[in-house]
Amino acid sequence: MQNMVILGATGSIGTSTLKVIAANPQAYKVYGLVAHASVEKMLALCLAHQPVVVHMVDAAAAQALKAQLPPALKIQVTSGADELVDLVTAPQVDTVMAAIVGAAGLVPTLAAVNAGKRVLLANKEALVMSGELFMDAAIRAGATLLPVDSEHNAIFQCLPQDVQANLGRCDLAAAGISHILLTGSGGPFLTAPLSSLKTMTPAQACKHPNWSMGPKISVDSATMMNKGLEYIEARWLFNTQPAQLKVVIHPQSVIHSMVQYRDGSVIAQMGNPDMRTPIAHCMAYPQRISSGVEPLDFFKVGQLSFCEPDFERFPCLALAIAACAQGQEATTVLNAANEVAVAAFLQGRIGFTDIAKVNERCLIAIKQRGLSSIEDIIALDAQSRIYAEEILTKITC
Ligand code: NAD
Ligand code: MG
Repeated sequence: MQNMVILGATGSIGTSTLKVIAANPQAYKVYGLVAHASVEKMLALCLAHQPVVVHMVDAAAAQALKAQLPPALKIQVTSGADELVDLVTAPQVDTVMAAIVGAAGLVPTLAAVNAGKRVLLANKEALVMSGELFMDAAIRAGATLLPVDSEHNAIFQCLPQDVQANLGRCDLAAAGISHILLTGSGGPFLTAPLSSLKTMTPAQACKHPNWSMGPKISVDSATMMNKGLEYIEARWLFNTQPAQLKVVIHPQSVIHSMVQYRDGSVIAQMGNPDMRTPIAHCMAYPQRISSGVEPLDFFKVGQLSFCEPDFERFPCLALAIAACAQGQEATTVLNAANEVAVAAFLQGRIGFTDIAKVNERCLIAIKQRGLSSIEDIIALDAQSRIYAEEILTKITC
């Protein structure tokens, strides 16, 4: 029996994780649920899953939840940064699903890593911000890191076992691997006229053709910043050199990524686009459990197609690849700028194509300074957000 804490329990990944747990009650127990402020959703989750502890980042939400929970359930309600770290590091906890969206996930995810937990990593922004420090911490603490992001999970599944066991330090060339092929659907605007991108609305950007996801990652998929963040995520997880990592557009999202070997073999992982598959894989690894996902029907799929990414259409992807080559400061700044820009787009403050402009201007403005601790990274993240906000006001007025 694994005791699990779910960070971001009310979100898209959190909800899918709880479905996989509910389908396998003999093997998993919900120990803790964590969310930001959605009291109603959390109340429903508490009634269905009866965790030992529930944590709301927003203190008022924690109070409201406490008032509505039936006392007979004896669920402990907490709030506060230290209490969150206490929850993920508690000795009773075996596994932490890291599915808070954005930079807010960094501290609790890293706390779980430092405590040597089994960490199922969906929160890609944490790794984009702190890549080297994060991987070093996992190795030092003996934490088991399993990638939930469907592409990285696919890549992981296509790798030899000794490479899987050595994430962050693996030598792909020595394992006979020539390339990692990171696939992406191209999102809802893959074939839209370039001239129409400027006026695309949040509702259009969030309407992903294949995946159902939270709003931030949906917009990131429309700009392909998501693939850019995943490129950086792959760089750290699989210790890739730039020449080893390629992005391939594959609109059907049936192949979730591939590994190309020196002898000409290409191993792909396929499945219906449903996050319960990679979640179930991470939960049970190295075993397999039921996820509730329909088996892939190749006769319904019919065709698989591929093309190269167009950097004019997707400037955010080019920015992320450049930032990855530049280093840790650049990826931290880009991630912060992008979170601010996407939030502003979702609020209707800027246009769709302005997201890339904000990101580019923030990247140009960074100064090399060297990041040697998580505190340095958090400070640079905060400073980049202030700068991105300044740029935003210039774009909107
Ligand atoms: P979502 O918006 O649906 O849910 C976000 C969750 O994070 C919610 O539970 C929310 O309460 C919580 N949260 C938000 N701000 C918080 C804060 N400041 N502190 C604590 N909790 C906070 O997001 P999602 O689509 O589930 O994505 C979660 C993460 O997983 C993201 O990093 C995303 O990139 C990654 N991911 C998602 C998918 C997907 O299919 N949805 C696929 C791959 C990776
Ligand atoms: Mg992904």
